[in-house]
Amino acid sequence: MASSLKADFWRQRDPGAGRCRLSKVGAGRRPPPARVRVAVRLRPFVDGTAAAGEPPCVRGLDSCSLEIANWRNHQETLKYQFDAFYGERSSQQDVYAGSVQPILRHLLEGQNASVLAYGPTGAGKTHTMLGSPEQPGVIPRALMDLLQLTREEGGEGRPWALSVTMSYLEIYQEKVLDLLDPASGDLVIREDCRGNILIPGLTQKPITSFADFERHFLPASRNRTVGATRLNQRSSRSHAVLLVKVDQRERLAPFRQREGKLYLIDLAGSEDNRRTGNKGLRLKESGAINSSLFVLGKVVDALNQGLPRVPYRDSKLTRLLQDSLGGSAHSILIANIAPERRFYLDTVSALNFAARSKEVINRPFTNESLQLRVLAPIKLSQKELVGPSEAKRARGPEEEEIGSPEPTAAPASASQKLSPLQKLSSMDPAVLERLLSLDRLLGSQGSQGTHGLNTPRRERMVLMKTMEEKDLEIERLKMKQKELEAKVLAQEAADPKDKENSSPAVLRPLARRTATVAKPLKKAVVMPLQLIQEQAASPNAEIHILKKKGRKRKVRAAGGFGYT
Ligand code: ADP
Ligand code: MG
Repeated sequence: MASSLKADFWRQRDPGAGRCRLSKVGAGRRPPPARVRVAVRLRPFVDGTAAAGEPPCVRGLDSCSLEIANWRNHQETLKYQFDAFYGERSSQQDVYAGSVQPILRHLLEGQNASVLAYGPTGAGKTHTMLGSPEQPGVIPRALMDLLQLTREEGGEGRPWALSVTMSYLEIYQEKVLDLLDPASGDLVIREDCRGNILIPGLTQKPITSFADFERHFLPASRNRTVGATRLNQRSSRSHAVLLVKVDQRERLAPFRQREGKLYLIDLAGSEDNRRTGNKGLRLKESGAINSSLFVLGKVVDALNQGLPRVPYRDSKLTRLLQDSLGGSAHSILIANIAPERRFYLDTVSALNFAARSKEVINRPFTNESLQLRVLAPIKLSQKELVGPSEAKRARGPEEEEIGSPEPTAAPASASQKLSPLQKLSSMDPAVLERLLSLDRLLGSQGSQGTHGLNTPRRERMVLMKTMEEKDLEIERLKMKQKELEAKVLAQEAADPKDKENSSPAVLRPLARRTATVAKPLKKAVVMPLQLIQEQAASPNAEIHILKKKGRKRKVRAAGGFGYT
């Protein structure tokens, strides 16, 4: 990251960099205390992937929301709402002016603030925080503005004398390391009697100009612990924490003192370490990083939900931020995401980490995915369509007639209805998917049913009740399917020409769920990582998850993280 930095790294190369001044700040509404504001930044395609024709897997909707294809159901997209969304065309200045600059003024009021860049490796955290000589990021812009402001506010004749110091540290495998004095070893984090968090022994360098800042920051950046993973050659495996303190002393009696702290943090990559091919030390690093990020997620969640207990002490990172994240502090989390398909799982994971709410929208992300969805079930084997025999036994003798060429109107299993390919192709894909999912679920329940005989009576009752419910749902869906089929027949009868012209291979679009009807707001749910991985391993594989009303599964795998 820092090896290419020159002494005049950020100086005024960007036309907007020097123009922003804190005096312009203040028009924005002050956020309610304690809540952590969350912004998402989508970076553009890099490495010419866009040129290769790859469509993005995520897209912005407006200045606060975005949508991403739902891996559970290709007929749906997931819409996420944030405090701010910065699309692929957003500039460094947009992000800085929109989300960071407004909080800086609070430092001079003696309050604390923190800016955290979150996201998988390669999604743009360092670009957002540090940037490049051509496009300076949040850190140089914030430093320039803060120093300018303190010069103005602390000048001769003003009531307060202001001084600025900087410290730079990294948290690596839950160790706090001083980047301005690498020999100092693991430092301890303490809390004073007024609840201020401090690190005894941490180097603090006074800075009065941007040149001062560069002189300390650039060589220290090179001390950062970086390692190579399959995801990114220069992947950062540690949390880089830049602390800028603004001290104020009143020049006249009563000689009050104030201190405001600003944390600017480039977090370690949030990717799931099981996909990075990490082993040994790297795996250990990832574990530490993820547990730290996991606690950060819990802290942000607790703050934003107003929970009585905020688990700051559960990791070094959050302990350090205890007086600067939540409380009276002003905090912004910038979740960085990438548009490439290979980032999809990490993007969903990062969005779930950052989201307070998400909404399921009934519309396919692309027409292409809708088409795939309709065709996909035809590839299923007869065995998959039929389901385990135990399930059939459990549902009664009439279901033994699998393969009957003319299914009657009498109750039949979903699989019976689905087996003729012609029927499959003309069925509402959403109904089809539900039927297949239910059928498989019943199949698996049926096979458990034999073991269930040995289970206690209460459990057996619950199982049977669930199966009854599922049977009812199948009946309901079958009714819907019949209605749809009747509609098609009526249409065909009304327009025989159309029937003649249509080829059997052409899929007939049936009445689908209204594209714009949204289900009620849902809280972000944790992805079952096991399933995500299986799907990632075989991109064509279909995963059908039955959404149970009023119940959400929460699976947390070792090394993974996420929260609702
Ligand atoms: P991270 O720190 O999350 O691993 P980087 O900041 O190193 O990711 O970004 C990865 C690559 O993408 C870098 O080459 C960077 O220059 C580029 N990049 C990231 N965000 C943007 C952006 N908003 N615009 C242009 N390029 C970007
Ligand atoms: Mg980085």
